[in-house]
Amino acid sequence: MSRDQIADLKDDLSGQIKELGLVKADVYDKHAKQAANMGTTVFDLLLKDGAINVEQMLTGFSKKYNIPFDIKPEPIVPEIEKFPVSFCLKNAVVPLKDNGKSMEMGMCHPSALNSLKNLGLMLGKKIDAKFIPPEVIFESILQKHIHTTSDMEKAKLLKQENIAKSKKTVSQSNKTVELKMENVVSGKKPAAPALDISKLKKDSEKKKEKEEQNIPMSVLDVPKKEEEKTPEVNIEELKKSAAKIDERKKTAEPSKEKSSSASSAPKLDLAGALAKAKNEEPTAPESEPAKETPKKAAAKAPEVIEDDVAGEVTGDVVNVVDEILSEAVSTGVSDIHIEIFKETAQIRFRGNGSLLAQSKYRKFISTSYPAVVARIKILANLDIAERRLPQDGKISYVAKDGTEVDFRISVLPTNLGERIVIRILNSSSLAVTLSAIGFTEKQEEEFLQAISMPQGMILVTGPTGSGKSTTLYGAMNQLNTPDVNILTAEDPVEYTMSGISQVQVREDIGLTFASALRSFLRQDPEIILVGEIRDAETADIASKAALTGHLVLSTLHTNSAIGAISRLVNMGLPPYLVSSALSLVVAQRLIRKNCEKCSVEVDKTTKEIKKFMGEYNIPEDAKLMKGKGCKACNNTGYSGRRGVHEVLVVTAELEAAISSGQNESAILKLAEEQGFKTISESGQRFLIDGTVSVEEYLRVIPKDE
Ligand SMILES: [Zn+2]
Repeated sequence: MSRDQIADLKDDLSGQIKELGLVKADVYDKHAKQAANMGTTVFDLLLKDGAINVEQMLTGFSKKYNIPFDIKPEPIVPEIEKFPVSFCLKNAVVPLKDNGKSMEMGMCHPSALNSLKNLGLMLGKKIDAKFIPPEVIFESILQKHIHTTSDMEKAKLLKQENIAKSKKTVSQSNKTVELKMENVVSGKKPAAPALDISKLKKDSEKKKEKEEQNIPMSVLDVPKKEEEKTPEVNIEELKKSAAKIDERKKTAEPSKEKSSSASSAPKLDLAGALAKAKNEEPTAPESEPAKETPKKAAAKAPEVIEDDVAGEVTGDVVNVVDEILSEAVSTGVSDIHIEIFKETAQIRFRGNGSLLAQSKYRKFISTSYPAVVARIKILANLDIAERRLPQDGKISYVAKDGTEVDFRISVLPTNLGERIVIRILNSSSLAVTLSAIGFTEKQEEEFLQAISMPQGMILVTGPTGSGKSTTLYGAMNQLNTPDVNILTAEDPVEYTMSGISQVQVREDIGLTFASALRSFLRQDPEIILVGEIRDAETADIASKAALTGHLVLSTLHTNSAIGAISRLVNMGLPPYLVSSALSLVVAQRLIRKNCEKCSVEVDKTTKEIKKFMGEYNIPEDAKLMKGKGCKACNNTGYSGRRGVHEVLVVTAELEAAISSGQNESAILKLAEEQGFKTISESGQRFLIDGTVSVEEYLRVIPKDE
């Protein structure tokens, strides 16, 4: 893959050459044509024919970007504890000089300036950039000459230093890694490296064993120490380790005989996620054309050691974050909250609607909060240097059992630090069937009837977290057949569905629900899903679309089905438009079910229960049960949730009532005459059969007026 990277770079370079007019347009075009015929790059051909030489090109870049160039640069061995080689390779830059507070970096294409800026932020150093010949960069990418022989003396010194010290520190073991790569890559001193690698490996294994005996200590110690020094280093380490794992996966994949141990399995998953998130192709050392054995060894040796280094340096944070994510997925929770307070920090999982603190992570998260946040931001491909503004991202994660899970990450800066909420978007829960939504038989029939019509507007209402999108996705699954064109505008796109074109709304660039909807109408759709109707414009376009042969589904923030009508009117829609466009409104809540393992019957003779039963017309023989809390339900008394709905069918009579501007209570009365049941009424069946506790019912279900 590194060769592809080089090909891309060459394309970029020829693009620059053309743009800056370093080669005359007609000459360039002639070469471009020829290159295409010959299956080579324009860049190579221009150089070969002498249309331009490297010095002319660098001079041109240098003038344009006001950055010096160096035709004969001498790359240095980067000090790896501050500077991952993988960063160089991925961003096509090479370190040239390290002056302590500043660093000189070589690049061949101006697009690398951005990554150098990031590097500066990461290292907390000033970065001076220089244009250098592309060949030097290409060689670095191919991992041939990132270290030069002039650095051998320095490398030797480092090696002696390492061997001399009996107790190694993290950064020193890193240096040794670098050293090994150095020696083996040069391929000229086979004796020493072979010996050293095994020695190193043993040493680090020993250290690992030590750690295992005392996990809590090491888990807390390593990041803490670094934090005290400087948080920048910490973040950098994290980034590096992420990159390292990344590399490890890449190398581990093609050749199966790698030494990645069983314990590193979860890390590999994350590496995959990282690669996905970054949308990067692996750079496999195997793609090197080299056939000599020393070089093969070179590809393997650093990797073996990296395994250990990753475990030592940041394996703690990396592993714990991975454990948190894995646990959340395997226990089926919907959200992970990572939050910091004045004295402490905590992780909470939201399962079955309630948040539960995960006390076993408390100590860890309290001591390594910034590292955990940074780790998650890296995984989500967010800007780790940005700590003042909210950020959103996504992590694609492959769980151990192979199920694909997407995490939606929201980072919110608070006065004490960044708070993270991770929403787990489990694609498997997408297989929602309408029958699983929890409608009554009659409601399901009415809903199916409405969504099978060729036109009309169907609204699902309810507060945030009431399962509106689940209902809509259920409808989509029902409607998704090969012969219809379905377009959706969502914020965010929660689940990707095959056969449906989904558009992510982005208000920041002007792609609003309204503008997406307007474009949809030119795309000949049968069915349109609009994530939410928030404003008059969207309401207007949606209702007009619903009257012109489209089935429109959307959500609205109202408490009741009837409330949707007045909301639309209040948004400025004329009542006649509302009445004729609207075909059905669902209002819903999600209600927690009693834990089956520990639910017991409630004493119906107490004053409160008697009062409740009287007020709500609950029949005397109702079961009324309540979970008292057990191990299975984490002592919450609840397990699982189900939907409670009210479904308002806009009949001809209701249409007339709406367009004549009647008020809510008149419309409700009419609807009830036609068999409409409120949420409160349809939820009572769960009280009566003991599925739902009185407390939960009162908490979730709005009282009828
Ligand atoms: Zn229980």
